[in-house]
Amino acid sequence: MKYALHQSIFTDAPCKLCAAHTLVVIGTHGRRRRPLTTTICRGCGLIHSYPIPRKEELDAFYARQYRSDYKGTVTPKRKHILRYSRVAVRRLDRLLQFAPAGQKLLDVGSGSGEFVYMASLAGFDAQGLEPHAGYSEYTRTIFGVPVITAPLEKADIAENTYDIITLNHVLEHLHYPLTSLGYLNRWLKMGGLLAVEVPDIEFTRHSAANRFHHAHVYNFNHATLTALLDKAGFELDARGAVASTTLFARKTRAPAPERQVSMPENYHRLMVALFDVTAGAARGRGSRILRLLRKTRRYLLEYLEATRPSHPRVIVEREFRRGRAGAA
Ligand SMILES: [Zn+2]
Repeated sequence: MKYALHQSIFTDAPCKLCAAHTLVVIGTHGRRRRPLTTTICRGCGLIHSYPIPRKEELDAFYARQYRSDYKGTVTPKRKHILRYSRVAVRRLDRLLQFAPAGQKLLDVGSGSGEFVYMASLAGFDAQGLEPHAGYSEYTRTIFGVPVITAPLEKADIAENTYDIITLNHVLEHLHYPLTSLGYLNRWLKMGGLLAVEVPDIEFTRHSAANRFHHAHVYNFNHATLTALLDKAGFELDARGAVASTTLFARKTRAPAPERQVSMPENYHRLMVALFDVTAGAARGRGSRILRLLRKTRRYLLEYLEATRPSHPRVIVEREFRRGRAGAA
């Protein structure tokens, strides 16, 4: 069914966050102009693809994205290893402000493993969880760090196992993030640290045409992400908001999915952020050109650095040393 922009939809399925039933269409296409209906909940501002894709559809989508299926071997490009290493340096810097090295850490959605390896270099007892067999195997053989190969909901992990669980750009891809966070709650010790980062839809720098992504089932802002964590039994650490949607939270209790949430003001706030013409103009053309230049420069530098022949482990170790030297 085709929906029009700003059309209201009354749905039988209650909102996963606030249990309201009214959605408003805020997007009809995703990237590359492919049709994709995106809605916002009137009761809380939670944004998601509509209808929420079934788990099997999501799995099929990722299988296509990865080109090889979940079993195929993978060889990440050096420029990607370099890029992920630099992301890992920033994640590690932030984490070390909240947790001492030496603790037991699980990185959920560990991908090709740069962060898990870097965390182990920093002294954490680090392990990955990754559904893709090829990426898991790559992480084990190239970086020599342990990875559990399983989808989150099928991972065989005992209660109270970890001091720290990290998720970087994972939650927005999941079929039902509250259920997934429930698993993480069980695997964490009481008082354990959850480090979560998702893109912030409120401060997205993408133009309206590129705002919504087929791979992102959910789009959060600070309010919806915090409310979700609260339901899942996590409380923001006192210094917990590094950025609006880069959060550090502690397990303080079991999940309470029945907790009532009502924040219609967040719906209004997001509608202004997404559709206010003046706000859009401020993101204007000038900054777009500047962004393009920066991006081109970054790609060029990455290309130059990454074409020098070196083992992937050498790339990660070099970025780690640079990062730690910079932090000292
Ligand atoms: Zn809602």
